[in-house]
Amino acid sequence: MVHFRTQLIKWYDKHKRDLPWRHTRDPYKIWLSEIILQQTRVAQGLSYYQKFVSTHPTVSSLASASEEEVLSLWKGLGYYSRARNLLKTARQVQDEFKGKFPSTYNELIKLTGVGPYTAAAISSFCFDEPRAVLDGNVFRVLSRLYDIDTPINTTKGQKEFGELAEAMLNSKFPAKHNQAMMEFGALQCAPKNPQCPSCPVLVECVSHNKGTIEARPQKVKKVKKKKRYFLYTVFIDRKNKKVYLKKRTEKDIWLNLYDFHLVEYKSQEDFDARIKSKRVITKKHLLTHQTLYVGFLLVDAKVREGELKHLKPYDMREVKKLPMPILHEKYILEHLDFLD
Ligand code: SF4
Repeated sequence: MVHFRTQLIKWYDKHKRDLPWRHTRDPYKIWLSEIILQQTRVAQGLSYYQKFVSTHPTVSSLASASEEEVLSLWKGLGYYSRARNLLKTARQVQDEFKGKFPSTYNELIKLTGVGPYTAAAISSFCFDEPRAVLDGNVFRVLSRLYDIDTPINTTKGQKEFGELAEAMLNSKFPAKHNQAMMEFGALQCAPKNPQCPSCPVLVECVSHNKGTIEARPQKVKKVKKKKRYFLYTVFIDRKNKKVYLKKRTEKDIWLNLYDFHLVEYKSQEDFDARIKSKRVITKKHLLTHQTLYVGFLLVDAKVREGELKHLKPYDMREVKKLPMPILHEKYILEHLDFLD
């Protein structure tokens, strides 16, 4: 373990990427970067981080923003519940901690949307609390290094890997150790094509010696995703160059985002029958727990005015500012460019 820790720090000093959140110990900025980087690649997350930090340089500033504004800043990143939680957490820090981010793991974990990983990252990166972070990169490195086949998405796996990560932590330099572990997993011990020939811990890597790298880490298969069938009628006003939208207010996916007039079908047969005879553009869209089969049917607004009461017309300049699912943004970009 000592050899690994020393090699890891040496490797990090040589290979680490120069990222803006590595130049700060401001817990607000570290928290922002961590939330943005969940389910997002660094290259994509960078511009969002910069946009948020320049628009809202402090947590108090973010806490005073409207949900619509935060969703607009988030536009394009997907997984919008993260954006809503971002605002909730900022307001919680403002109200319960007088705008000052908590500094310990035990306080941080109480914040909305802050789980064990983020709490460990903030408390170690900003306040040198000796807490080991455990993200996808760390799971992968540990499972390969010691050839552990316990599935990482089980309670047993979380516990086993958590204890191992704590035991390996360099408690003198927890911030650097944690950042190095994550960076090592992202760059050297990558999910596909890990750079084993140049790896500084090749000799002690059990998976490499046994030839089990491809099978690590283990995961148990998730339950089947729910299938849903959405048919959108996209009402447009060609003369005034407007498209009709509504805000989603039901407790469902895409809460508070904008979409078109929607009818949801219970069965695939009904949905297929409905879209067969029409000029419908169909898309398949994967969410974490659902698979959506979506049809878009373009209709002139004048044709069926009775159906428009719950909708409002927007021009393309307004549409570009509205928070919307990525699927709808793409549809507008590809099929409604004549309204621009
Ligand atoms: S030898 Fe390969 S699998 Fe093992 S830690 Fe290094 S990069 Fe990862």
